[in-house]
Amino acid sequence: MNVQLNKAVFLDRDGVINEVKTHRVKFVNRKEDLYFLENVPESIKKLNDAGFKVFVVTNQGGVGLGYMTEDTLNDIHDHMARELAKQGAQIHEIMACTHAPHENCYCRKPGSQMLLDLIDDYDIDIMKSYMVGDREPDIEAGNAVGIKSLMVVNTHPEAYKSFKDLSEAVDWILEDEKA
Ligand SMILES: [Mg+2]
Ligand SMILES: [Zn+2]
Repeated sequence: MNVQLNKAVFLDRDGVINEVKTHRVKFVNRKEDLYFLENVPESIKKLNDAGFKVFVVTNQGGVGLGYMTEDTLNDIHDHMARELAKQGAQIHEIMACTHAPHENCYCRKPGSQMLLDLIDDYDIDIMKSYMVGDREPDIEAGNAVGIKSLMVVNTHPEAYKSFKDLSEAVDWILEDEKA
């Protein structure tokens, strides 16, 4: 048997890819509120060029709570993928947990079901993969599946390493994978 395993970077969305809680946007509940953070398309393209599958794994409890419909969320994600593609950056799949926080599902981070499903579907090698998030649940979800979990913007004692933003984290990943 010769299974070709893929390497992957799992990205949290809000606060990693796009702005939240800034002067112009609180939550992204419509596509007009999606503002990419600095150097995000370029950073994702760098990962693509290095052969990484790039996935977005995002908690969108606003759907389960009734602040946004599933259709609107899909609309936001189609828009996000299209805008990134215009700049040569490819997201291989976007996975969202739309359950409300109190539903206690397995997909909402720190649960790791979204990661596990992608690892299974795309034959991902966890030894060569990374999670990037800006909050504790991201780090916990990544650690639970045994991938190096990187924190951006904030720091966390259980993060493998912390960085200022996605761009810095990606530059580190591209060095780390050679080690
Ligand atoms: Mg976030
Ligand atoms: Zn869920």
